[in-house]
Amino acid sequence: MSSGEITEEHLDRAATKWLTDFEAMLAGNGLSTLADLFHPDGYWRDLLALTWKLKTFHGLSEVQGGLTGIGSTTHPRNLRLQGRAMTGVLGEFGPTVEGFFTFETELASARGYLRLVPEAGGAGFRAVTFLTAMTALKNFPERGRANRDETFMRAVEAGADNWLDRRGAARAYRDRDPEVLIIGAGQAGLMLAARLRHLDVDALVVDRDERVGDVWRKRYHSLTLHNEIASNHFPYLSFPDSWPVYLPKDKLANWMEFYADVMELNVWTRTEFLGATYDGANRQWTARLRTSDGSLRMMRPRHLVMAIGVSGLPNIPHIEGLDAFKGTVIHSSGRTDDVATQGKSALVVGAGTSAHDIAQDLYMRGAEVTMLQRSSTTVVSIVPSAAKATQLFRRNEGVRPIEDVDIMGASVPYDLVRRLHGPLSRQMAFEDRDLLDRLRKVGFALDNGEDDTGFYMKLLRRLSGYYLNVGASDLIADGRIKLKPGVEIDRLEGAEAVFSDGSRLDVDLLVLATGWKPLQEAVRAMLGDEVAERVGPIWGIGADGELRNMFGATRQENFYVVGGTITMCRSLSRYTALLIKARLEGLIDRASVSKGASDRGEVA
Ligand SMILES: Cc1cc2nc3c(=O)[nH]c(=O)nc-3n(C[C@H](O)[C@H](O)[C@H](O)COP(=O)(O)OP(=O)(O)OC[C@H]3O[C@@H](n4cnc5c(N)ncnc54)[C@H](O)[C@@H]3O)c2cc1C
Repeated sequence: MSSGEITEEHLDRAATKWLTDFEAMLAGNGLSTLADLFHPDGYWRDLLALTWKLKTFHGLSEVQGGLTGIGSTTHPRNLRLQGRAMTGVLGEFGPTVEGFFTFETELASARGYLRLVPEAGGAGFRAVTFLTAMTALKNFPERGRANRDETFMRAVEAGADNWLDRRGAARAYRDRDPEVLIIGAGQAGLMLAARLRHLDVDALVVDRDERVGDVWRKRYHSLTLHNEIASNHFPYLSFPDSWPVYLPKDKLANWMEFYADVMELNVWTRTEFLGATYDGANRQWTARLRTSDGSLRMMRPRHLVMAIGVSGLPNIPHIEGLDAFKGTVIHSSGRTDDVATQGKSALVVGAGTSAHDIAQDLYMRGAEVTMLQRSSTTVVSIVPSAAKATQLFRRNEGVRPIEDVDIMGASVPYDLVRRLHGPLSRQMAFEDRDLLDRLRKVGFALDNGEDDTGFYMKLLRRLSGYYLNVGASDLIADGRIKLKPGVEIDRLEGAEAVFSDGSRLDVDLLVLATGWKPLQEAVRAMLGDEVAERVGPIWGIGADGELRNMFGATRQENFYVVGGTITMCRSLSRYTALLIKARLEGLIDRASVSKGASDRGEVA
């Protein structure tokens, strides 16, 4: 398939024919021609549109199983190519014909992205990826240019409320409870709240911090985002064009505060979520909040969303002598900014992202830093390597709306991401070979992931075990940050660490960059054993090919978990919001939602 032989019209015709044939096949309710339309190794990913699930189907029999009955129940129709079809390349599948399409179902408008490859012998095209994604509920469109709120705010009655009065009342929740309570005003909570607001859903976000954005403000002094601005825009409101490629943490924090304000999100800061119980008969939660004035407030929302970050609760290892340790001990989740560092000896335990970032920060603030590395790490340069993972966003910034780029990104299911990241991560390692060799020379243990698929699969599977180099690796390779590889702390004695190889180090500051407990434990702490067991493990790729229990329905009715990278939160919060809206409007019943709950299968 060379571009010289194929015109744009050919591409359009190929995509349109596929969509027409697919629709006819579904309408005929027979899937006998599926093998003509789908590559045997092809993927169909559905984001609510046809199944009310976030789910990936791989191979003919899974796709067939998923599509069975869809023609008569969800009744997808009017599949139309949107814009022009294009050419592309997809890893081992080679050259593709691809493009956006729109369609509708009984309840929703939807769109998707299709990638076709030519059949051997040139007879036709078969789909290697087919994404179907809900965009709107037909009877409940999002607020937007076409349907702005037309309330005329300048009333004639004396003392009538103006916009500010109404905002104050909406935020105060004096005489009502929200329909949705979101715990956590990080980007995940804010983005979901913005999406719900566009759907006219009454949502309150609570956060125990003083100000929106504090979660970023409190992180180490030197932190800038590790991925590029093109992938980090917020929904409905992109960052200004003049902003830098890598966002400093405080700039992002201030943006989040601004976003909450201009998006008119109802946020209560200095408010701690203490716990909640679910009343299945009345389908509502009773949530306990400690508010900013110290009082207790009970709220009865229909839906509860946990947006407390996907790292979970700090994991503090048992170390003999820790309680009596003479120096300062901080977990990487804590604040190191106000700790004296000049001339101090700091031991950073761990060799993941936080460990590297904190070690670098302490070094720059005059500390003598030693990093203790127990197990190997995937190290990747930010440029040129890690940037390859987000090149889709950079290439398309200013070319097409971020919503379109999110659709293109979502059209590659996680299992295919894994397959693509094998060769991609090896290419990264090749380009980073000088840095990696220098690290090996000082004894730093490296890996490329358990199945040689690099850092991104580590992120999707367990959010740890990698570092995108923003300088710490160079400091380690140059010996300016010292390394203790392959040992553990045997015990702490006074202000000394005694290692498993018998060596000793005076330590003023001990930083435990030792990771996090699984997020299911945070659910347990907040909602009890029964709910935690019902929901099951969170994050990691499940048997349904999706992130377990993230963004979609869980097995606990009316309970959702959102979080992760900024890109994921922006792209996937749309589906959480639509699911909640559909439930609130009675469009889907309990059975179809629980059938749509995230699979609890083992991590892939
Ligand atoms: C050092 C570091 C660098 C990162 N760099 C990037 C990057 O470059 N790009 C990227 O996309 N991602 C990055 N991430 C990952 C991710 O974007 C962040 O972890 C982000 O903060 C997650 O957002 P969130 O909304 O899911 O949760 P968080 O930002 O963790 O927000 C959770 C909020 O919940 C609140 N909360 C928790 N418990 C309660 C309670 N009981 N009651 C009330 N409030 C509560 C907290 O106060 C907090 O404000 C980074 C993460 C870290 C740690």
